[in-house]
Order: sequence, then C-alpha cells, then structure tokens
Amino acid sequence: MLVALAGGVGAAKFLRGLLRVHDPGDLLVVGNTGDDLRMHGLAVSPDLDSVAYTLAGLADEERGWGLAGESWNVREALVRLGEPGWFALGDRDIATHLLRTRLLGEGASLSEATAELCRRLGVPVRLVPMSDQRVETRVEVDGPDGPLDLGFQEWWVGRQARDPVRAVRFQGVEDARPAPGIVEALAAAGGVLICPSNPVVSIAPILAVPGIRAAVAAAPCRVVAVTPIVGGAPVRGMADKLLPAWGAEVSARGVAGLYAGLADAFVLDAVDAGQAAEVAALGLEPVVVPTLMRTVEDAAALAKAALEALGGGPGNPEGVPR
Ligand code: GDP
Repeated sequence: MLVALAGGVGAAKFLRGLLRVHDPGDLLVVGNTGDDLRMHGLAVSPDLDSVAYTLAGLADEERGWGLAGESWNVREALVRLGEPGWFALGDRDIATHLLRTRLLGEGASLSEATAELCRRLGVPVRLVPMSDQRVETRVEVDGPDGPLDLGFQEWWVGRQARDPVRAVRFQGVEDARPAPGIVEALAAAGGVLICPSNPVVSIAPILAVPGIRAAVAAAPCRVVAVTPIVGGAPVRGMADKLLPAWGAEVSARGVAGLYAGLADAFVLDAVDAGQAAEVAALGLEPVVVPTLMRTVEDAAALAKAALEALGGGPGNPEGVPR
C-alpha cells in the first residue's frame, strides 16, 4: 500500500498521473484540511474536493479548480442578497457541500462524510482527511492598518495574498488526532509519497497532526517528495509568499530542506538540476526529471519517476525496506 500526503490542485494533478501507473486500490491519500472553512453555513473542504473531483474525472481542467460544467446562479443570488461572494462556490460544487454539511450535522465524522462523498462521486481511491478534528490554518499578516490574524482562505482568496506574511500557524492542531487508518497505513506502507503541494499550508498541516510526522519517519519504506517549486517559483499559486515566512528559500533546495530528515529522495525539476548536489548534501537522494504536469501523460511520467525512487521500480511498486 502506498500512502500519499496531498494538498489540492498540485497533488490532484500528480495523483491522476499516479493512477495511470499504479493500482488505485493500493493507495491511501491523506488530504489537508487546514484550509477548510464554513461558507454560507456550509462545510467546505477545498483540498479534499480538488483531489476527489480530479480523480473522479469531474474537474474543470481549464479553470484549474472546481467542477466542469459549473454555473454560478446561487453565488449571484447570494451576492444580490448582500452575502459575501469572495469565495466562489459553483452550483454543482454547492451540492457537494450540502451533502457534506448534512452528513456532519447527522453526526458523521469528516472521514465518514468524505468516504461517502467519494463513493457517490466515483473516486477510485481511498481519500481521508488528515484529522477528524478541526485544524485551522491561520496567517498573521501586515495589513494596511497594522497586523491582522486571518483564516487562510480569507487571506489567500479574499485578499489575493497581498499582505506580507509574518507567521503561519495551525490552530487546534495540538488537540487533533490522525484520522482513523492513517497511522496503521503508514506502519505497513510500501512507500510514502509527498505530493507536489504547498509545503507550508498543504503538507505542513498534515505533518503537524500529532503522530503523523512520527509515523512517516518510522514507516518501513522509503519516503519520496516531489517539488512544487520549479525554477525558483511555484508553478501555480502563491507558495512564494509563504515559504520565506516559514524560513525557507523559494527554490527546490529550499523545499528539500523542509523535508530533510523525513524523506529519503527528492524529485526536482530538470531546470533545477544545478541544485541536485545541495539536495544530496541535505541527505536526500536527488531525482532530476521534468516535473511540469501539462498533460496526464506528463503527470504519469513524473509519478513513475517517484515510484522508481521509492525503490521498487515500476514492476514492484511495493518498494524496498529502508
Ligand atoms: P492548492 O492547495 O490547490 O494550492 O494545491 P497544492 O498545495 O496541492 O499545490 C500547489 C502547489 O502545486 C504549488 O506550489 C504549485 O507550484 C504546485 N504545482 C502545480 N502544478 C504543478 C506542476 O505541474 N508541477 C510541479 N512540480 N508542481 C506543480
């Protein structure tokens, strides 16, 4: 069994490629829920949904997020009623949030609600939230009139990440527990993949849930991370605004430094080949390949390289003991 730690869109693209070269039944995806929010009273889990929609083949690939064939009538009507429209929820997407909110309201855990949604959406892999407890990514920023403490989406989407970040924290994480099955899966894993996701607000919250980092470190297999930074910039999104606040350079070697001591190998882009020696000096085996996922074939080739770095090669994706 492979275990993948995943954020949103970057992870979703990678995992779609992975499913071309690996058995979906042999994969557990652990998703970030630090960005979750309540919007119009609905429970929204943006990263879980990005992964679910993409793996179910329902995502809008041109827009890069949300569902294909989306319309925006509810949002327009809400704005007409004076409600905030900064976090755009499409009509079809709202159906997901309505069902999730109902299940949670009836007493289901987030894991149970996610499993039910995945079943109904046709997601071919097991997707679990990092925790059933609420963990909230908060950013402390320099606002125009002084310091502000904001919910992640409020800053990222609502303010388009324009305020400089001083600090990032995961509120509530000390009381959170890994969702059922995560620690057990890691203890028996044949490989652990850290997806090309934002290291600060997608991967760090997962690792911050007490027990998960230790379980990754103790896994009886290799751990391979894939860079989200290519040529000194995020491929998409604004990870460059967050890495410095987390004490890391906006570069492949900067991200590799965050995974030193945890991962065995680090997949970096061919344009960053000059950093391979520095990655090796951090104790990570560098794997230099093209990492831009323009097509599903690109993503499958990248996933294949990551699988090979797990030690098993394509024919034996169970990996080898460390
Ligand atoms: P989000 O929560 O939706 O922003 O998604 P993630 O955290 O999963 O992914 C965001 C990260 O994915 C960004 O840092 C991007 O640079 C990275 N990313 C997106 N597309 C690609 C790609 O094609 N190749 C690589 N290497 N990284 C990518």
